Amino acid sequence: MLPGDGMCEWRLRLSGARPLAIAAVLVAACAMSSCSKSPPPAAARHFVLVTIDTLRADRVGVYSGADLTPRLDRIARDGAYAANAMAHVPLTRPSHATILSGLLPWELGVRDNLAPAELPSSPLLAEILKGAGFHTGAFVSSMVLERRGGFGRGFDRYDDDFPKTEGADLLATLQKPGRESLRAALSWLESEREARHIFLWLHLYEPHDPYEPPEPFASRYRERLYDGEVAYTDTLVGQLDDALERLGLKAGTLVAVASDHGEGLGDHQETLHGFFVYQTTLAVPLIMRGPGIASGRRIDANVGLVDLMPTALNLLGVPTPKGFRPSGNDLAGALRGGAEPTGESPQYAESLIPLLHFGWSDLRVLRRGSWKYVLAPRPELYDLVSDPKEQHNVVEEQSARAAAMRATLAKMLDQERRVAQEAATRHAPTAAAGRSLPIDQLERLGALGYVSGETSTPASAGADPKDKILEFRRANDGMRTGLLALNRRDYAAAARAFQDLIDSGIQSFELHLYLARSLAGLKRPDRAAVHFEQAARRAPLLEEAWTGWAEARLATDQPAAALAIVRDGRTHNPNSAKLAVLEADLCLRLRRPDEAVAAFEAAVPLLPKDAVIRQRLGELQRDLGHLDAAVASLRDAIAVDPGYAPAWNALGMTLGGNGHLHEAEEAFRAAIARDGNDHRYYFNLGLALLRQGRSGEAREYFERTLQIAPDFAPAREELRKLRADHTGQ
Ligand SMILES: [Zn+2]
Repeated sequence: MLPGDGMCEWRLRLSGARPLAIAAVLVAACAMSSCSKSPPPAAARHFVLVTIDTLRADRVGVYSGADLTPRLDRIARDGAYAANAMAHVPLTRPSHATILSGLLPWELGVRDNLAPAELPSSPLLAEILKGAGFHTGAFVSSMVLERRGGFGRGFDRYDDDFPKTEGADLLATLQKPGRESLRAALSWLESEREARHIFLWLHLYEPHDPYEPPEPFASRYRERLYDGEVAYTDTLVGQLDDALERLGLKAGTLVAVASDHGEGLGDHQETLHGFFVYQTTLAVPLIMRGPGIASGRRIDANVGLVDLMPTALNLLGVPTPKGFRPSGNDLAGALRGGAEPTGESPQYAESLIPLLHFGWSDLRVLRRGSWKYVLAPRPELYDLVSDPKEQHNVVEEQSARAAAMRATLAKMLDQERRVAQEAATRHAPTAAAGRSLPIDQLERLGALGYVSGETSTPASAGADPKDKILEFRRANDGMRTGLLALNRRDYAAAARAFQDLIDSGIQSFELHLYLARSLAGLKRPDRAAVHFEQAARRAPLLEEAWTGWAEARLATDQPAAALAIVRDGRTHNPNSAKLAVLEADLCLRLRRPDEAVAAFEAAVPLLPKDAVIRQRLGELQRDLGHLDAAVASLRDAIAVDPGYAPAWNALGMTLGGNGHLHEAEEAFRAAIARDGNDHRYYFNLGLALLRQGRSGEAREYFERTLQIAPDFAPAREELRKLRADHTGQ
């Protein structure tokens, strides 16, 4: 919210949409200092945001007394920290989306690491700051945060360069060592030091598994390598802070350090993160230091990562864009020493992985005061003050409290369903397009142990994830084993790994997709087709499942069956260019050119920068005798890419065939100007000249044709005829 606008209820809105009267549902007691009138304090000039992936709050000294993080502790003591900060979802991508958008996962529609393929269009922190004159740079260390996912919006520089050498171990391509991200960030910072305003986002991935700290941390923390990663990461933050000092930027810079989620480390039987919603993975450090922030401040209220954006904007003196209101609370007043959010300060969190991927129940969390309620088939209620490790579920003893918290969550879920339905009707085609995901990305994310599925209506029904954790762990381990085998083209081992998981009763579209790809690698297209079909039926928006299925049918010489599959796939994926082009190719193979034209015409608007597809359409129209349409398509190809010589040549042939010889001549000359090494362009120009009665010029081009391609018989023949005509006269 804007500072001083006097509105303090906890509002949840969709950007650009009408306000959702959620305030009536989840009302935070209003004691925010931004409610009171006070003179505007000095704003920070620069903003440095550090997100440390997978860092548990209890590994940070100020949170627990642990001794792993002296540099983070110093920043917290010089500035402030939120003792009860939480992530809203224990997964990298949706959690970062919340940090950078100020909206909750369900408002964004970003529920896991895979879908939607791009973030929705509501303004991101970097876009807002860039609009306010900031020079913006991001340095991320995991492919989960690649630019193509939408995180690059608003950044002048977005460094998501990951090593992608051929044959490299799959996992090596997924993350970048923190020291490399830091080095790139520091060199950018150095180059921008004179800028009036700087926004730097550094994402460090180290505490994420596998736990492989460098020396001396590997030796020092041999028995607890995760802690070694944390201690090492702390030194990277220290180097960044030292650089701010050295560059003279420290005094004017707002520094925020947060984690996106914690790590299970075996507590509650959860090894990693992303499945359960216990404090092991939801409690995160949130530390801020900078101009105006009261030194040594500790905020005890429940706060969430969603609060980071509105808080940072206030501390930077940058107004929230008109018409957009982030969901989070602005904590700037509290950080400056004013009253902090008091009362219940409710916060929401979720895990949809069990539902989306396995068809088990989702998990929803309402935290209010010291109480935490988990909505699940067997609900849980904990008092985090007396039971911080969540060992004693008191849902029976505190039944009235549990019922009240459940009712609050139920109202919120109603709201969520309404928003989802509205969004579905408003953006149906766009939503479908946004959900398709490049297959290589899906594979590499799968190797990280991430899983995904359809964003369907949450039910809080099905199996309780508490009963499924071992199954989930087995699925993740098997998936990783299989994907690594698939990546090194050991198709037999990969097929075995995926088949074992399916045989054990775990059902997911990814397992079927990967098994199908393994079987295709083993040259068993009939069996591959069965599993591509399973994947397509389970995840109809996964275009790779449809194309794989169709290609498996083609491999056994069933083009008509392949065409039927592709057409079925297109009804689910009307915006898939790949499927439209495949349909056109199959129609051509089946000698059904009119249907191929229709498929190409469907593909053209889906491939706005593709000259080749327009050229292919134009040539097909020409061959069918639709000359005007052909000329239009070819001119369209040239408009898309004026430097593409084959389109000029095809245009010349079409115009020439239609008797427009002078225009054809111009087109062939244009083709030659763009590519002087293709003998056919010279030959065609020669023919166009010959038909205009300019045989002397034509002869010259036939000769040049033969200079490039001495064996090109048609040119020889034309020259022979020209000589015969000459002697005949
Ligand atoms: Zn993460």
